[in-house]
Amino acid sequence: MSADGEQQQQQVAVPTSQVDPFWPRTEATGSSVSIDEITRPPKMATVQVGDGVQFSPSLYEAHTMKTDFFDVIVVGGGNAAMCAALSARRTGARVLVLERATEHMRGGNTRHTRNIRCSHVGADQFFSGPYGEEEYLQDLIGVTGGPANLDLAKLAIRESSKLPAWMSMHGVYWQQPLNGTLHLGRTNRWFLGGGKALLNTYYRAAARMGITVRYNANVGDLIIENDRFEAVKLKVGNTEEIIRGGSVVVACGGYEANIEWLKLHWGDAADNFVIRGTPYNDGRVLAALLEHGAQTIGDPKGFHAIAVDARSPKFDGGIVTRLDAIPFGIVVNNQARRFYDEGEEIWPKRYAIWGGLIARQPGQIAFCIVDSKTIRKFLPPMFKPYEADSLEALAFRLGLDPNVFVSTVTEYNHAAAANKEMCMERLDGARTQGITPPKSNWAIPIDRPPFYGLPLRPGITFTYMGVTIDEKTRVINQSGTPFQNVYAAGEIMSGNILTKGYLGGFGLTIGAVFGVLAGREAGTNARG
Ligand SMILES: Cc1cc2nc3c(=O)[nH]c(=O)nc-3n(C[C@H](O)[C@H](O)[C@H](O)COP(=O)(O)OP(=O)(O)OC[C@H]3O[C@@H](n4cnc5c(N)ncnc54)[C@H](O)[C@@H]3O)c2cc1C
Repeated sequence: MSADGEQQQQQVAVPTSQVDPFWPRTEATGSSVSIDEITRPPKMATVQVGDGVQFSPSLYEAHTMKTDFFDVIVVGGGNAAMCAALSARRTGARVLVLERATEHMRGGNTRHTRNIRCSHVGADQFFSGPYGEEEYLQDLIGVTGGPANLDLAKLAIRESSKLPAWMSMHGVYWQQPLNGTLHLGRTNRWFLGGGKALLNTYYRAAARMGITVRYNANVGDLIIENDRFEAVKLKVGNTEEIIRGGSVVVACGGYEANIEWLKLHWGDAADNFVIRGTPYNDGRVLAALLEHGAQTIGDPKGFHAIAVDARSPKFDGGIVTRLDAIPFGIVVNNQARRFYDEGEEIWPKRYAIWGGLIARQPGQIAFCIVDSKTIRKFLPPMFKPYEADSLEALAFRLGLDPNVFVSTVTEYNHAAAANKEMCMERLDGARTQGITPPKSNWAIPIDRPPFYGLPLRPGITFTYMGVTIDEKTRVINQSGTPFQNVYAAGEIMSGNILTKGYLGGFGLTIGAVFGVLAGREAGTNARG
């Protein structure tokens, strides 16, 4: 989600005290500098990035090394990258995919996905009803307050109707939605086997079509001269390489795995964030593009973030760490006080704000409290909830002040006393009376022991700030004109559409629509 309603900025904060040989350009002088002065991203050495590979200063002098040439070079190995690679290959281009991860960890955040949001005119075997372009757009406007670029948002929605056929053509199979809490059966398509199966399908198609894929290929920079991409600089193991290309598609995610970068905008609170996906998306190629003069778009503090179990792994916990208990109970912070309306809207329209809400609480921790009436009504949590027979005992187990905690629950129970049942299928209007914040729906008392507490942390899915693109997915430079042959797709350009909030399944839509488009444009451009 976007923070504080801040507008897109031309200011990019960079740290001042770190010197990283991988970004050996001008030193930054302040804690926040203008984009014109931007020099380098946060020091990568301080960030856990999975393979721990560090670049040596000599990379910039490595021009004597062996080079190779491909028509289209795709940086990244997730949904956006593979859609771009497959699409570029269809233009006849020689395509190289550079994936930073090992083969078995390939695919970034896409590994964790399950469904994609597509417009369509009617029900079919996999959609339970129609979902027209206008309704889709209104849903998007409803959660974002309006996309950054309305034309690109409309393009994404229009083209999304073609995705099921395009994906099927490359070998994807579909399945009926599983029962869950997000109720997306009408708007979203579920691919059989989830994200890993989707990626395996795309990689198999790539192999069949003669696309070259290299793993452990850690791209650090692009050579761009006179607004024209010439080559990528990468490191494979300890070997530094330069590979020349006719055009490049950058599809290597956001910077959500870069805690130091997040700290620039969130301060030390970022130490308490959980990163739901790959540790590889540290934004180093995004930072390189900014250094080369790409125009940014999107709130640098903005991200998609949900509530995950506080006991989740720091990185890559995936979908199972998500907690969907919030509308069934109340949420208190570490002062044992409620801080937001837990029943404001149906869960698919609100789950993505809870990461940001918890990120703004002291210690970046909160606790969802339910009782024996509701504990079995949501998807079972991955970790066992804390359980106690009294509210005082539960407060003790959660490390909360028992007096304040009991008073918070008691006050809530009085305010919800008129409501006996909750109907989760709709906004049921069973609201609290006379408390702040209210709980606007599904507010029934928490009064039947045992009582349960689930500790919550902000779970960051992906960041929004990225590079500005045009309708051909060309990256725009600071003078407002496109680089000649640099294209972007996926999370790295999601800020062109997402300003705050999120629609479930839209991340893959953005990656697939702009990936297919970027691949086609890059291939056509490179082949003249
Ligand atoms: C738990 C979870 C569940 C989700 N579920 C859904 C869902 O069901 N539907 C949906 O639409 N969205 C979902 N999302 C969001 C979705 O994952 C993303 O929007 C989407 O996958 C982004 O695709 P991408 O290709 O831009 O990035 P990614 O899939 O993250 O791919 C980025 C790639 O770039 C590579 N890379 C990074 N840096 C470098 C570098 N320097 N050099 C070379 N390669 C590099 C990474 O290794 C990775 O392969 C989910 C996210 C998470 C975390």
